[in-house]
Amino acid sequence: MKVIIAGAGIGGLTAALSLHEAGIDVEVYEGAARMAPLGVGINCLPHAVRELTELGLADALMATGVATRELVYTNKSGQRIWQEDRGRHAGYDWPQVSLHRGRLQMILYEAAIARLGPQRIHLDHALGHYAQDADGVTAHFVSRQLLAGGGSRRQAPADGDARPRGSVRADILIAADGIHSAARRQRHPDEGPPIWNGAILWRGVTFAKPFLSGASMIMAGHEWQKFVCYPIFPPRPDGLQEINWIAELKYRERNGFEPEDWNRPGRLEQFLPAFESWDFGWLDAPGLIRGAPGCFEFPMVDRDPLDAWADGRVTLLGDAAHPMYPIGSNGASQAILDARVLAWRLATEADPLAALALYEEERRPATAKLVLANRRNGPEKVMQMAEERAPQGFTDVHEVIDADELARVASEYKRVAGFDREQLAARPSYSVRRDPA
Ligand SMILES: Cc1cc2nc3c(=O)[nH]c(=O)nc-3n(C[C@H](O)[C@H](O)[C@H](O)COP(=O)(O)OP(=O)(O)OC[C@H]3O[C@@H](n4cnc5c(N)ncnc54)[C@H](O)[C@@H]3O)c2cc1C
Repeated sequence: MKVIIAGAGIGGLTAALSLHEAGIDVEVYEGAARMAPLGVGINCLPHAVRELTELGLADALMATGVATRELVYTNKSGQRIWQEDRGRHAGYDWPQVSLHRGRLQMILYEAAIARLGPQRIHLDHALGHYAQDADGVTAHFVSRQLLAGGGSRRQAPADGDARPRGSVRADILIAADGIHSAARRQRHPDEGPPIWNGAILWRGVTFAKPFLSGASMIMAGHEWQKFVCYPIFPPRPDGLQEINWIAELKYRERNGFEPEDWNRPGRLEQFLPAFESWDFGWLDAPGLIRGAPGCFEFPMVDRDPLDAWADGRVTLLGDAAHPMYPIGSNGASQAILDARVLAWRLATEADPLAALALYEEERRPATAKLVLANRRNGPEKVMQMAEERAPQGFTDVHEVIDADELARVASEYKRVAGFDREQLAARPSYSVRRDPA
């Protein structure tokens, strides 16, 4: 069986490594002309770290990230609403790892080059469209200017504007080509651009003194104004630590913002004034914002869940299948899970079309639930509850939200996202190790 993957992002590369390990003939086609460590911070939750560990990447991951110790929600004055231990500190067999998105992609890319061989990873090959018949699928690739430099979330130009890069025949095509997936657009031409919920996220990275445990992730504020930050690298010898931050404002009007690129620069004057008073003593949000060399602006977008992912021999994976709000730290983790389940099914089912169906049966409803849960603010809804019930703050959070209610919100989301501790420990491995046929 020959499998081709469009997109060398987090999901596509994890799928390639997993398929290769299972002895399946796989090649990857990436639209970007050059791989570069783009993006800012990202989280790998324990269920995704388990998968990367089983792929032999735990050491590389830990060498470039921080094992997150705790997650803390506060109100807009920095008063604590909820605290929970994370990863191994919460009794999981695997840590939660906060790290730079681009470095994670490069770990996967370098592993793919080493294991599959460079001749199986093709850059500057953007999927244009595909055609299929009873015996196979043919993917047509193009070279696209807008994807040059490591990948962009901007809508790619139409095929007619691009230079052909050749066609490849395979048994299965996995479209892991991100939120503006060409394969998804071919199957759902009327879907239009991603859906914006009115929130804008400004993201940056600042070297600053560690806060709280030095491995804490905090979320402050409420649905309309939020500040999230967490360290993504251990402290340097001078004691400063690389801290990823996200300042978020939600607007009732569009205000000229358009669904855009991860690499579009943001301007401080658009959001810093709203956060000037958010110095909580233990965390100086305006200081962190000012200390960054620059920041990126990104509208909070997702897409409606689809009724089907497979189109014959073609299926979707990761953001191509289920782009979701970056709430609950799930985007990369769910792409990794998709990749592992799909590779396991392709490696263990005799009929590849049956494998696609079983993959979809498991992953489509699970991720659709998460897309919808994130629209309702996922586990972060406790922050909005605190704001609505006590906009002036509180002395004891339990006068405002009952302890059981807080615990219920947190555990319910973990179950939906598939990282309930007991469930994760009990689940058999998705790894299949076989020599190439
Ligand atoms: C440049 C970039 C920066 C990002 N930065 C952040 C961040 O800072 N924080 C965060 O939480 N999330 C970030 N994300 C999103 C995050 O990586 C994804 O939500 C998550 O990892 C899901 O992974 P994925 O593999 O489905 O998609 P992605 O990781 O988005 O990967 C998709 C890949 O497909 C490639 N591609 C696109 N179109 C085509 C095509 N037609 N043919 C072939 N290849 C194509 C892209 O270049 C990219 O390499 C970023 C994504 C990108 C592309």
